Amino acid sequence: MSLLADKKILVTGILNQYSIAYAIARTVVEQGGKLALTYQNNERLREKVGRLAAKDFPNASLLPLDVASDQQCDAMFASLQEQWSELDGLVHSVAFAPREALIGNYHENTSREAFGTALDISAFSLTALAQRAAKMMSPGASMVTLTYLGSNRAIPNYNVMGIAKAALESSVRYLAGSLGPSHIRVNAISAGPIKTLASSGISGIGEMLKGVAAQAALQRNITREEVAAAAAFLLSDMASGITGEILHVDAGFNFMSGNSQKISE
Ligand code: NAD
Repeated sequence: MSLLADKKILVTGILNQYSIAYAIARTVVEQGGKLALTYQNNERLREKVGRLAAKDFPNASLLPLDVASDQQCDAMFASLQEQWSELDGLVHSVAFAPREALIGNYHENTSREAFGTALDISAFSLTALAQRAAKMMSPGASMVTLTYLGSNRAIPNYNVMGIAKAALESSVRYLAGSLGPSHIRVNAISAGPIKTLASSGISGIGEMLKGVAAQAALQRNITREEVAAAAAFLLSDMASGITGEILHVDAGFNFMSGNSQKISE
């Protein structure tokens, strides 16, 4: 069964083959979907992502996008509309906070500027894209974003990104509420830690991975393919009754008390 047969899906946030967006893009194609990709707009990435996309997604268009710019959001959707009159799915897989804010004590290392940047690029960008995507969407369309447990737990070093993810998750609910009457769904996947360029900016990611594998119900970390499979489900008509939801794909880490080993002994 092809979950996404002929659905037109826009996937943002592809940087390299380790990106969660890359795994989602592969799954979209495997599930019969038509793909458009965006990359962060700069010369270096145009070449790098261009090579990757030409190799692995030869039928997908690749569009430049800096989510911090309204002008670029408008231009990207104008280009998209030249090839597709309708859009069935949007994947928002973008986040950024200055590296110096992702280490140590939150109260010492969070500047006004870092706070604004993290919230703009990692949270508001979903609303910026949703505003434009919704104009191309019909009933049944779906939007999916990526979040992390640091939204509601104070996780060492995650700091301002946790606050941005809290805003992102709240945005999911508000967008789901306001787009619900148009029968457009909006959901988030709360993924367990995975090694990517974005996560390598968070100090102590190696220990975090080990800690999660030790404490998660399934006693392991997750793969980006598992996140991609959940994204394909949420983008598909199989999830037609689900909106405003934060779906954990974390091998059952979020609900454990931290003493799973004692429980199983
Ligand atoms: P990644 O580094 O591969 O992807 C992050 C993407 O954000 C990159 O493509 C980057 O170019 C893009 N980006 C940053 N600033 C941008 C801007 N101004 N305009 C446009 N694009 C911009 O890392 P990833 O781990 O695949 O991250 C994807 C999403 O998954 C993020 O929202 C991240 O917070 C979330 N997430 C990741 C993990 C993890 O452990 N890797 C866990 C939970 C959630």
